[in-house]
Amino acid sequence: MTKPDSTPPPNFIRNIIDEDLKTNKYGGRVHTRFPPEPNGYLHIGHAKSICLNFGLATDYGGPCNLRYDDTNPSKEELEYVESIKEDVRWLGFDWEDREFYASDYFEQLYEYAIQLIKAGKAYVDDLSADEIREYRGTLTKPGKESPYRNRTVEENLELFERMQAGEFKDGSRVLRAKIDMASPNLNMRDPVMYRILHAEHHRSGNKWCIYPTYDFTHGQSDSIEEITHSICTLEFEDHRPLYDWFLDELNLYHPQQIEFARLNLSYTVMSKRMLLELVEHGHITGWDDPRMPTISGFRRRGYTPESIRDFCERIGVAKRDSMVDIALLEHCVREDLNRRAPRVMAVLRPLRVVIDNYPEGQVEELDALNSPEDPSMGTRKVPFSRVLYIEREDFREDPPKKFYRLAPGREVRLRYAYFVKCVGVIKDEQTGEVVELHCTYDPETRGGDSPDGRKVRATLHWVSASHSLEAEVRLYDHLFVKPDPTDNKDGSDFKTHLNPNSLETLTSCRVEPSLAGAAPGSRYQFERLGYFCVGSVDSSQGALVFNRTVTLRDTWAKIEKAQAKGATVTEAPGQAKPAHPRKGAPATGRREELEPIGEEISIDDFSKIDLRVGLVRDSSAVEGSNKLIKLMVDIGEGRLRQIFAGIRPGYPEPEKLVGKKVIVVANLKPRQMKFGLSEGMILSGGDTDRLCAPTFEGDPLPGDTVT
Ligand code: ATP
Ligand code: MG
Repeated sequence: MTKPDSTPPPNFIRNIIDEDLKTNKYGGRVHTRFPPEPNGYLHIGHAKSICLNFGLATDYGGPCNLRYDDTNPSKEELEYVESIKEDVRWLGFDWEDREFYASDYFEQLYEYAIQLIKAGKAYVDDLSADEIREYRGTLTKPGKESPYRNRTVEENLELFERMQAGEFKDGSRVLRAKIDMASPNLNMRDPVMYRILHAEHHRSGNKWCIYPTYDFTHGQSDSIEEITHSICTLEFEDHRPLYDWFLDELNLYHPQQIEFARLNLSYTVMSKRMLLELVEHGHITGWDDPRMPTISGFRRRGYTPESIRDFCERIGVAKRDSMVDIALLEHCVREDLNRRAPRVMAVLRPLRVVIDNYPEGQVEELDALNSPEDPSMGTRKVPFSRVLYIEREDFREDPPKKFYRLAPGREVRLRYAYFVKCVGVIKDEQTGEVVELHCTYDPETRGGDSPDGRKVRATLHWVSASHSLEAEVRLYDHLFVKPDPTDNKDGSDFKTHLNPNSLETLTSCRVEPSLAGAAPGSRYQFERLGYFCVGSVDSSQGALVFNRTVTLRDTWAKIEKAQAKGATVTEAPGQAKPAHPRKGAPATGRREELEPIGEEISIDDFSKIDLRVGLVRDSSAVEGSNKLIKLMVDIGEGRLRQIFAGIRPGYPEPEKLVGKKVIVVANLKPRQMKFGLSEGMILSGGDTDRLCAPTFEGDPLPGDTVT
């Protein structure tokens, strides 16, 4: 089993376990389980549960079971069962010989049901499903007892046996627990324990035509397996009294159910039902489509198990539902691949470049580093010749400000090769499109430096035209355009928010020859472009297909965006910097009198900023910086966020901030700084010398929204 790299941070589940160990509640044992229902492929939310259950077991030196919660007979189960094993194994966890199935307990569960009937705690009900729902009442209205509730034990025993014998139609009768129809907890209003379903089960075949419900199965399965801590997601919190009731009434060994918040990730969905819908409607190519949030999708896309485990560790466990920014997951994989993926050069949208003064037929093998950060990864040879390809977007005939790459008359560096200068541009006569560039090279600059100290402002990647290999490259983007596609306040179906551009396929890409025969699944950094892996499903012999795992950050796109914004401002001269044209300003002119002190944004823009109350748990100066303070802030996520804030001038004694409640911008993309990852921003005010962070007094809790 894989050991986590560092001591895990405390969380409320660990606290419970520590306490149980102290009081010897389970004789010093810790035994967990991961209980998937085999009705779909596992997604990243399941990864969180897997890392948690297997991780806790490893840390406390106990076992973790893999238990299929297969009480619903359905035909695809076998495929799902296999995929689940593959995914758990791939994530780096091992259940050894502890592979269990709830269906293996059907006999035992049946005995338990008989036991409850005999004790007068369960009865056969003839009401229809609709009637049961109606009798159940609501949160504000107590339930009504079924007219069949007071059947005798004998009658119940006989009817239940006949249900089992197949005498009744689907849905005609159920077995219910006799608890309390007036309970404030709807789950305690005589919940259903068994229903009739004449359906074949992938393991028990046609042996049963009655199947136990989740509630009647889960706790007893935990008990049979002698689980100590039964960890599940928050929606089962209201089921816990029922979990406890069954175990107590049956007088069985009693594990502790503990609930935590499920993972929600932005720009995707995390429900098997929705994912299945995408598969069935053909919106993606299957459960393992690289755009899917499934473990198999991430695997095919080039994610490493280490990066997913790291992500699960960072998000921690909490008692409060929240949405994690997908940028954090992307950050984790980028960080991991930065360490392990060798650099290569590939050109996605090739533009032909002829080096006029380079001898025809000459080829030089240049040395290229496999990792500039890790010399132990060695070097490789890259062929250089007279005709090359560079990236189309690395050339602009009419370069805008701050565009430092190739342009007519301009000199740039070709990575590991020479300085080249653009001396000619050939265009298609009809379309005006640039089809070829002519350059000259400076033989003195071999390796990429000029002996006369001449500087260039850009280094481009390239490949040799005749030596490079053709490849197909698939660029993936978020599956949805809306951060929370399931937010249907406007009545929209989640599928209407699918990103039409989530996949772009480029077919005439060129990659350096060292990639010939690259093993399926192997991962590379294409210099300046991102991380890519050889498609294991997609590459057939001879045809190279690469999947983009994640991009590198693109500073140019940001600059261009900022410039595009700036352009609107200059189009309206004479006005005091309006960010938006003043459409719809009231005719009274009153609006005109209120000049905003900053650029105006709309309420929609503002509502995108997630402001939270943060409790500062630790605050210290950052060595090597006289501006920054490093803060560890609790914003109710069950873990602390590390935030670097430039407020040192206002807080010469940073520890004074400990215990203060500050305002945190919680949905900023994490930013890698020289000193570490910064996961948010602290609001502060004042000029540089007297910056001060507003703080709260009294009631607000860490994680509360600031409005
Ligand atoms: P879905 O809602 O996606 O269909 P599920 O809860 O029905 O998921 P199961 O197969 O029953 O799926 O889940 C197995 C385990 O994984 C359960 O313990 C469940 O609580 C946990 N789990 C499922 N989704 C998440 C999630 N998004 N975050 C954390 N844990 C999850
Ligand atoms: Mg479930």
